[in-house]
Amino acid sequence: MPREFKEAYKNKTRAHNGNLGEHYWQNSGNYVIEAEIIPGSWKIIGKQTILYTNNSPDSLSEIVIKMYPNHYKKGGVRANKIPLKNLTDGMVISNLMVNGEVVNLNMDASVSNLAHATKEKNKNSNISVSYNSTFLTLEFNQPIPPNSTTKFSMDWETEMPSIYVNKIGAYDGESAFMGYWYPQIAVYDDIDGWDKNEYTGAQECYTDFGDFNVKIKVPKGNYVFATGDLLNPKDVFSSEEYSAYVLSKTSPENTNILNHKTTSKALNSEATWFFKAENVRDFGFGVTNNFNWVANATAVENKVVSSNIVYSHKDEKNLRDLLNTQNKSIQYLSNKLPGVAYPYNSFTSFIGVPEFDGMEFPMMANNGFSNREISNNLMTFHELAHTYLPHWVGINEVKYSWMEEGWATFLTFKFCQDFYRDTAFENYELNRAISSYNRSAGKQWETPLFSPSNYMVVRNMHFQQSYRKPAFMYLALEHLLGEKLFKICLKTYLNRWKGKHPTPFDFMFTFNDVSGKNLNWFWKKWVFEYGYADLALTKIESSKVVIENIGGLPVPVSLKLTYANNKTSIINNSPEIWSSGKSNILIEIINAEDLISVELVTDTFPDVNPSNNLLEIKI
Ligand SMILES: [Zn+2]
Repeated sequence: MPREFKEAYKNKTRAHNGNLGEHYWQNSGNYVIEAEIIPGSWKIIGKQTILYTNNSPDSLSEIVIKMYPNHYKKGGVRANKIPLKNLTDGMVISNLMVNGEVVNLNMDASVSNLAHATKEKNKNSNISVSYNSTFLTLEFNQPIPPNSTTKFSMDWETEMPSIYVNKIGAYDGESAFMGYWYPQIAVYDDIDGWDKNEYTGAQECYTDFGDFNVKIKVPKGNYVFATGDLLNPKDVFSSEEYSAYVLSKTSPENTNILNHKTTSKALNSEATWFFKAENVRDFGFGVTNNFNWVANATAVENKVVSSNIVYSHKDEKNLRDLLNTQNKSIQYLSNKLPGVAYPYNSFTSFIGVPEFDGMEFPMMANNGFSNREISNNLMTFHELAHTYLPHWVGINEVKYSWMEEGWATFLTFKFCQDFYRDTAFENYELNRAISSYNRSAGKQWETPLFSPSNYMVVRNMHFQQSYRKPAFMYLALEHLLGEKLFKICLKTYLNRWKGKHPTPFDFMFTFNDVSGKNLNWFWKKWVFEYGYADLALTKIESSKVVIENIGGLPVPVSLKLTYANNKTSIINNSPEIWSSGKSNILIEIINAEDLISVELVTDTFPDVNPSNNLLEIKI
């Protein structure tokens, strides 16, 4: 265990049984934002206050403020391609005040290449500022004490890219999705202190939980779809739209609220939309003046969830049907796996990205579409599955993307099997992941899962380590524990860590604790070491087949035995068979003398080298 994690256990902020430690703490920021989109552009002018509560035992001599839109700034470092003409001036903050004290934002305290001791501070002011690329740091002569709330207020101006890039931005002149768009206080936690990682677009974000009160003023004729509840529907809808909106909140039948052909643009004049969301880790919104909107209500436990599809009319017939898929997704997640009731009032898929891509935000997703129905169905599910991780359980996506993308991928295997049961598509998602995994697994760049996600600079590395490898680890874990116990462990983990920030150890310790098994041998191979899925059949020795674990991962072992009378049988072994840590195992075969061949079955779990999976016995 790395030192910073050991420290957390020593300080009892986390517990060895995977629970929150008795001294667990987490800071929070409550945001009040007034934003205005400037007509004819995707410029946003904002005014906001943040009430930031320091629940840590530390006096904070620094506060880090993330400025994600600097990702699109001329000269910024980024992992995505953006045409030069679409670069912006980034995020420009002005009138920053801390508890009423004006901060001189031009007094940049950064001194390059010099030791901290030589850095000159402006002695006349309590607060000085230094800039990195996508965040600024405020340094305080008088630190912010524990158990105190500090008020930050600021004006700002930014521009969202006028093209779709890195899962946000404009689709065209009519519609856009705004994500990572406002200045946000970074996370200060018990493991790393401040999150001072640059945002390059390769990884997602690490954000604290807080309440959001957001007013968004948009040009005439535009509609806004956002995280949270809309507080002033009567102000922004025509009376027909309002009636349809109200009906959609309770009716299980599809209600058409907006149709691009009949949208009452004249009635909706320069409206300000007011949203409120409590205890969420981010706020995103879509703006459009020509999408369609269909919605209904789906019952989950003792409440009703408003389910919304807002979509580009360019692919009307396919996208409209996604409401049905979305509701089945909400039901699957709530009742089957993980089996935790959908935790918010509504979900909205905002669909219209001109490429096949998707991005989760609390209570909503910004999705693209494909001309393949199954891809759209699975994308809708995948983004909705992110409701649980990283949003409800607040995953640090900068360092541990496998703790959220891996789950969304694994859950999509399971949903696909349920949704397409007894059809040719039942294992579509699983097969797709197996073949992608088999193509790229086992390379040098496939570092152990535990390596921080933001160190993954090879593009394929991110797909392998954030999505496929962890999804297969969760699948192997399910084989190992059995579906029932696995589900109990997963539900307990989610319930323990909802609204909190778990690390990989909190996840692993919870599974050890709840399953009553010491799974450290399993975690060692899957999380902390290099390894890939590759088994080989080497020989048969006195009625035992010898299996070599070439890739080293504890994977399930499924053998197909074919006998001289053409009869076949299957032997299944869970990954537990590798718990001794040996790289060779022996499996006893019944009636070995009549055997013609032994084959590793690899259609439900990857195996990178198929050439060593068959043993033919010469008679
Ligand atoms: Zn995802």
